[in-house]
Amino acid sequence: MSVGIYIHVPFCAKKCPYCDFYSCGYSRRIAEDYADGIIRDIENFPDKPTADTIYFGGGTPSLIQSELIGKILQSIYKKFPINSPEITLEVNPCTVDKNKLLLYKQMGVNRLSIGAQSTNDDELKLLGRIHDSETTRKTILTAADAGFDNISCDLMLGIPGQTVESLENSIYKLSDLPVRHISSYILKIEKDTPFENEKIIKQMPDDDFVSDMYLHAVKILNNLSFEQYEISNFAQKGYDSRHNLKYWRCNEYVGFGPAAHSFYNGQRYCYPSDLSSFIKYPLEKIITDSSPADENERIMLGLRLSEGIDLKDFPDKKNYILSKAVAFEKAGLMISTADKLRLTPEGFLLSNSIIAEIIA
Ligand code: SF4
Repeated sequence: MSVGIYIHVPFCAKKCPYCDFYSCGYSRRIAEDYADGIIRDIENFPDKPTADTIYFGGGTPSLIQSELIGKILQSIYKKFPINSPEITLEVNPCTVDKNKLLLYKQMGVNRLSIGAQSTNDDELKLLGRIHDSETTRKTILTAADAGFDNISCDLMLGIPGQTVESLENSIYKLSDLPVRHISSYILKIEKDTPFENEKIIKQMPDDDFVSDMYLHAVKILNNLSFEQYEISNFAQKGYDSRHNLKYWRCNEYVGFGPAAHSFYNGQRYCYPSDLSSFIKYPLEKIITDSSPADENERIMLGLRLSEGIDLKDFPDKKNYILSKAVAFEKAGLMISTADKLRLTPEGFLLSNSIIAEIIA
């Protein structure tokens, strides 16, 4: 099976106060050194597995010089056999223009993931984002004009002050644009971020309200032909993220760059979040798990997907799982058909505790 390749681009124009992803300030010079480090690690990678997805995530990959994205892609093409790839690049509005988008297209990038988050300017301001709703609209239209057909947008749920109406507006505005895929994440207060303060915590909506918003979003998105295929991901037919599906299906992926994670040759590992060391020398990988994906992990990740799990893959556990699922089915949280078992949208909201019970 082909692997996915993930490149972590750890630069942001401004740190968003809710975000705990690894990123640093950007300068052209540091970005050049960073790209050299990525190319060094790609060239030194000990194997040459065939890859069919490439994902530039961050951080803000669209912030760095586009020619660096091109250089990194060239080194990937040179090193790995590449088979009809999906090549995704994360883009933040305010960091691209038509010229940059055309260059990405020429380089082979064929999917954009745009950090829209909301189309309500007050909500964007509260999130500390540098763009407004109009910039998002223009970015999406310019991307479509540059030839991108596969555009995804991030949409945030549970923003302080967000109402059912403003959420609906965001969904309708994004779905009116040439957007094929929406990732909808619930805002959480992460440890050691500026959002971890009393003023913001007091403004956070309560869990019941957020659950209602989530179920409402699922319903509207489904009505607009964005089919839910994972807890937080919705796509028009044929536009599921092939790269991200690898994570949930326990397929292999190889990550490059500080803070990048990998699952390769049965080993899960990551690199330290340390850009300045990464630029100087190859980082030592940190092995987080050296056993192939076990049954519990495959159940845990598989139940994140709307397709659920195939019980034929777990013959020894099948009866136990089904006995545990009975109560959840009665409560409308799970559905079993033939040999398949999956969570309903209501079940997705309680996925952690349901999965813990199923694999106990
Ligand atoms: S732009 Fe994205 S990665 Fe960068 S700080 Fe904001 S949310 Fe985090």
